[in-house]
Parts: sequence; structure tokens; C-alpha cells
Amino acid sequence: LNTTDLIEEHRICVCVRKRPLNKKELTVKDLDVITIPSKDVVMVHEPKQKVDLTRYLENQTFRFDYAFDDSTTNEMVYRFTARPLVETIFDRGMATCFAYGQTGSGKTHKPNYKKMDLQVYATFFEIYSGKVFDLLNRKAKLRVLEDGKQQVQVVGLQEREVKCTEDVLKLIEIGNSCSHAVFQLILRRKGKMHGKFSLIDLAGNERGADTSSADRQTRLEGAEINKTSKLTQVLRDSFIGENSRTCMIATISPGMASCENTLNTLRYANRVKEF
Ligand code: ADP
Ligand code: MG
Repeated sequence: LNTTDLIEEHRICVCVRKRPLNKKELTVKDLDVITIPSKDVVMVHEPKQKVDLTRYLENQTFRFDYAFDDSTTNEMVYRFTARPLVETIFDRGMATCFAYGQTGSGKTHKPNYKKMDLQVYATFFEIYSGKVFDLLNRKAKLRVLEDGKQQVQVVGLQEREVKCTEDVLKLIEIGNSCSHAVFQLILRRKGKMHGKFSLIDLAGNERGADTSSADRQTRLEGAEINKTSKLTQVLRDSFIGENSRTCMIATISPGMASCENTLNTLRYANRVKEF
């Protein structure tokens, strides 16, 4: 399969990645209710009970551009998702890669960056309660301005030059955040922007019972991705540009205990396919 063709066909590519059951889930003997029968199909086998208490599995099938099972390596996910986007920014384009899913489903567990030849700068900010904070400058609160031509600018956002993969990884470590976090790589040639790659690590999208109060605000924010938000404003140039591509990776936990969150994630990802 040619990965560039995969992206060419769809301006937005929607993939799902299932992680393996973790130690805790194995300890409490949670069941794996997700199967990936082929490279673009995800099935959820939801345990249900009839009125007479007989148990049965309700099977639901979803189709995406790509479905990665729990044995898929980061390198493979990278090859089919972010790698074709990198080609776009060398071609004077805008690329965006989202991770969307329940807390603990694998959003942050994602591929590393590859080396690039042009001058590369990185920015890293988070969006929390509708406000923008600079993760590379002690969480300084930043203003977002729109000019007459609807160009959006985050005023004072720090750009750091990065020379190698290690530089990038260091910055990502410094700025680690549980809110909507946006990491951008900006290619410049003679000081002018050539291309921009935004990697977005969304806050967990779940609502409800397992939410500890300390995390509640963050997670409610995660649910708010459905609404028009600061995030879509700040990233507008990346979404509507002529030469722009977007990829969303919906991450899902395998366990029965996460079934409801998993179905919500898959239904949402399904709707994104129609954009
Ligand atoms: P999130 O960012 O969605 O809250 P993380 O990416 O931090 O979740 O993942 C939670 C835990 O599960 C981490 O310890 C991570 O290393 C592990 N994990 C996630 N996805 C995978 C995977 N595909 N294979 C192996 N371990 C994974
Ligand atoms: Mg995370």
C-alpha cells in the first residue's frame, strides 16, 4: 500500500489504534472486547444482558481509513499517519495530526519525529479553559489575535530552533501537559515560513463516573472538542489552507470496562470521516 496515496484520496485521514490490555486490566481480568479483523475494520463486542438474564455480545462494526491492532508498532503507525503529512510540509503545506481518545488509551504513546533538512523551529502550547499557555515559557498566558484577513496569531509564542530528534524530544518532555497540547514544527527558509506541522495531543474525551474531581475540568474540556473551541480558532490556517492535510488517530482501550468510552470515540471518529 502506498502511504502517499492513502492521504491523497482524503484530505482528512481517520485511523483507529487499539492498545494492548495493560497490567492493571490483566490483574482485574478485564476482557478484551475489541477485534480488528482487517486493516480498516474495528469491531466492538459489547457484553449485554437480556431481561431473562441470558448474556450475549452485541457486535458493532466500524470502518476507517486504517485500523491498527495492539501489535502494531509506533513505526508502522507513523508510516501510515504522520509520515505522509511530513511530505506535505516540505511541499509548502500545512499538516495536522490529532490523537483523540479516552485517558490512558494511548494518545501520547506515539511515534518520534524524523530528522529534517530545513531550518526547523518548534512551538508548544496548551489550551486550558479556553486560554492559551506557552509550555516552552513557564506556562505564560498568551493572547490570540485575529487580523482583518482572518489570520490568527498567538502573540509572544516562543519558537525554539531544533537541530535533531533529541532536541524535539527534550522540548516535548519539558512541556508535557494533560490539557489540549499543541506541538508545532515550523519549517523556515530565509526566515519565511515554508510549512507547518501541528501535532495535537487532546485531553481525554471521556465524561463521567471514573473522573476524579482534580481531573474533571481537564476532561470536560476534552469533551468540548466537539464544540467550536479555541483550538479550532488557533489552528484555522492549518485546517483551511489550500495545501493542508489532517490526520486523526482515535485511540481506544481494549477493556470491557472502557466499552462505553470506546464506542463514543469510534462514533465521533466516524463522523469526522465525513468532513
Ligand atoms: P493517553 O495519552 O491517551 O492518556 P498514554 O499514551 O499515556 O495515554 O498511554 C497510557 C499507557 O499505556 C502508557 O503507559 C503507554 O505507554 C501505554 N500504551 C499506550 N498505547 C500503547 C500501545 N499501543 N502499546 C503499548 N503500550 C501502550
Ligand atoms: Mg496523554
